[in-house]
Amino acid sequence: MGVPFLHIHQQGFVDLLVQRIEQQEKTFVVTANPEVVMQANENPTVMNYLKQATYICADGIGVVKAAQILGESLPGRVTGYDTMVRLLEIGQQKRFKIYLLGAQKETIDKTVANIHKTYPNVEVVGYHDGFFDWNNNSIAQEIATLQPDLVFVALGVPRQEKWIAENLDKFSKGVFIGVGGSFDVIAG
Ligand code: UDP
Repeated sequence: MGVPFLHIHQQGFVDLLVQRIEQQEKTFVVTANPEVVMQANENPTVMNYLKQATYICADGIGVVKAAQILGESLPGRVTGYDTMVRLLEIGQQKRFKIYLLGAQKETIDKTVANIHKTYPNVEVVGYHDGFFDWNNNSIAQEIATLQPDLVFVALGVPRQEKWIAENLDKFSKGVFIGVGGSFDVIAG
């Protein structure tokens, strides 16, 4: 359906992203669920965000099954949430610096508190809720200055992909990944 999915397992994908972080290679990840694939097929602007991604992975069994039906088998699902949790676990060992963007103010506050508690070696260098003025560049400027290893963007689909695609050229390094409702899950 015009979306170039990466053929990779969850663990292989996390390993790949860790390598990209360590090599300081700027990376844009789309974790594409069936909703994104449908939106991209209906809206060329959304497809254009996806075309700018470094990697697109199959977020959910729906994508894996659809690929199978279309004769393009994928090794398995690679979800935004699982990828985020694995990166936090590895970040605990490797002391990654992260930035979190998205969700309601109360949710992001709880997400940051829970990350501090569970992964104390992960340094949250900054965070912002997901309800901001898109004409204000201060969040992107802050991220460009802080230079985190990882930026988790949870603004929903396709807002998170749009935000990353529109701002990516301001950053020199970092893995930027859209993670949908993951902050809501981590907040509890
Ligand atoms: N969200 C946000 N800004 C917005 C709209 C949504 O930060 O302008 C957040 C929302 O609070 C939630 C996350 O994006 O934490 C995912 O939202 P939703 O469930 O609507 O998206 P989906 O999971 O369908 O991608």
